[in-house]
Amino acid sequence: MTNRPTDADVIIVGAGVAGSSLAGLLALDGLDVVVLDRAQFPRPKPCGECINPGGVSALARMGLLNAVREHAPARLASWSLLTDSGARACGRYTVEGEYGLGMSRALLDEILVKEAERRGARVYEGVKAVNLVMSDRPRATQRVIVETTGLEGRRESWSAAMVVGADGLRSIVARRLGLVRRRPRIKKVSLTCRLRGTGPSRAGGVLFITQRGTVGLAPVHAHEPLWNGTVVVYSKRWGRGIAPDPLAFFRAALAQAPFEWDGAPEIIGGPWISGPFDWPTRGAVADGALLVGDASGYFDPLTGQGICSAFRSAEFAAPVISQAVRKGRTGVSQLLEYEHALRRMVRPTRVLQRVIEAAVSRPAAYRVVVARLGVSRPFTDRLIEVVGDSLPLRSLAAPGVLRTLLWRAR
Ligand SMILES: Cc1cc2nc3c(=O)[nH]c(=O)nc-3n(C[C@H](O)[C@H](O)[C@H](O)COP(=O)(O)OP(=O)(O)OC[C@H]3O[C@@H](n4cnc5c(N)ncnc54)[C@H](O)[C@@H]3O)c2cc1C
Repeated sequence: MTNRPTDADVIIVGAGVAGSSLAGLLALDGLDVVVLDRAQFPRPKPCGECINPGGVSALARMGLLNAVREHAPARLASWSLLTDSGARACGRYTVEGEYGLGMSRALLDEILVKEAERRGARVYEGVKAVNLVMSDRPRATQRVIVETTGLEGRRESWSAAMVVGADGLRSIVARRLGLVRRRPRIKKVSLTCRLRGTGPSRAGGVLFITQRGTVGLAPVHAHEPLWNGTVVVYSKRWGRGIAPDPLAFFRAALAQAPFEWDGAPEIIGGPWISGPFDWPTRGAVADGALLVGDASGYFDPLTGQGICSAFRSAEFAAPVISQAVRKGRTGVSQLLEYEHALRRMVRPTRVLQRVIEAAVSRPAAYRVVVARLGVSRPFTDRLIEVVGDSLPLRSLAAPGVLRTLLWRAR
């Protein structure tokens, strides 16, 4: 193997949606960016594979939407909620020109990695970050060292003015910086499979809510009858049922969902397993370092907002990193602007996610709420748009919208 340059302005650990999009933005801005990922692309990623309208807008702002649309993602116009009591509700994206996209994560992430490379970032696959150290140079010239292991056990040290943790849940960068707040309290596990079949409406996604957890279904291709099926359950109650045969568990959960298939769907990929998800951080910046995407803190996949948050965190981080590196001042105080922007974005999202989690974990609550949403269309549309990151949380309290939930059944 030939030696490669291991010095850069910025090292990004993780080439998922957050890392690749940030790498592209920084490279376009003229920085020398290295991206390290332990995986080799394309690689599967456990995910519901739905980019919400806020995420689609972020792709457009970053100049990445055309590259994604060339690969025929499914267009999502709505989300339906079904419960084990038979209650139903459907919310549509009603804002003009607004839609979500369904697409294989293996494909999406590969497209974003290629775009980052095309823009000038150096991406190294099969390279796993195992440690992070600050050089003991004087502060103004301090470098961050990332130690890695590669294929065939190759060990390397990479150095840069700044390191970015874009390495997802259980981020090694967040852990080494001491930024992980606590271990997960809500313990869930997810199983994702690729399905092929016809029958259910391809206009949007469906979420079936049961006492076990949820079963999500969404189309992931514009022309092929391909679907993402994702089952999420509480691991304390159901984890033992999964361990002996995850695929059988997935099949049983899918069979209980009232999705209207023309014959049983074929499972052609997976199951890909993930969890737990509730990994909060105490902050997203440290001297010479910053966290984006799931590494900066995550709660739950239920509302499908993670990809949008990852893109937005990359958009917030890019100008702050560029300025800090150019000035040669990469201490915490230079990076706080990013931390504040991130917290402003995350706070309302977490409030809504916690309320939804509280409802979904209680059968009496989710059955009543979904039945009520089923007869309160304006409120349900607005809720789906807020969860779709295209409207702020406060828009749910707009007069005329809240009223339809509380008083007027339609
Ligand atoms: C079951 C489930 C369903 C979901 N459904 C949706 C959905 O429908 N819509 C939505 O918007 N969000 C969804 N999410 C959330 C979404 O998947 C994440 O928020 C998003 O992928 C975060 O992107 P990221 O780039 O931060 O992390 P990731 O996409 O996880 O990427 C992290 C990358 O870092 C690499 N890495 C990790 N450790 C190291 C290391 N030590 N060294 C080098 N590389 C490393 C990994 O290989 C990976 O490529 C779901 C999540 C789950 C678990």
